[in-house]
Amino acid sequence: MVRETVSEKETYELGFHIGQKAGAGQVYALLGDLGVGKTVFTKGLAAGLGIQEPISSPTFTIVQIYEEGRLPFYHFDVYRIGGVEEMDEIGYEDYIYGEGVSLIEWADLIEDILPPHYTEVRIEKDLEKGFDYRRISICEY
Ligand code: ADP
Ligand code: MG
Repeated sequence: MVRETVSEKETYELGFHIGQKAGAGQVYALLGDLGVGKTVFTKGLAAGLGIQEPISSPTFTIVQIYEEGRLPFYHFDVYRIGGVEEMDEIGYEDYIYGEGVSLIEWADLIEDILPPHYTEVRIEKDLEKGFDYRRISICEY
């Protein structure tokens, strides 16, 4: 599925709708360059799960946990990870094979340890279509 958005709000709303439908154990692997809108999408998805507290990027902690929604939400940002062994240290597998909803920003950096089934969300710019244009491709594996 491909969606095109032309504002932060539209990307947030796409995330929101996906969060409303997300099931236990689902993993979202977000791909895309810095500043493309991964965290905007994540904030929408969290709101769709019923999470009201603000979502901050877990860049220095790798994972941020939210328990107040319809399902637990595990928000990973692996941008600064040194190696996949750091994921073991934070209990990565307990989260992604758990009952909550997991979302991983920069998932391509831990490609080798993604679970067999996940939803890939790839966000891309196309400057010819404007600064705020985003092409969001969603694919199930
Ligand atoms: P990332 O997490 O991928 O590094 P962020 O979500 O933090 O990126 O930031 C995305 C930036 O792009 C925000 O400043 C947002 O306002 C801007 N933006 C502009 N157009 C869009 C769009 N269509 N979708 C999402 N964000 C957009
Ligand atoms: Mg981000």
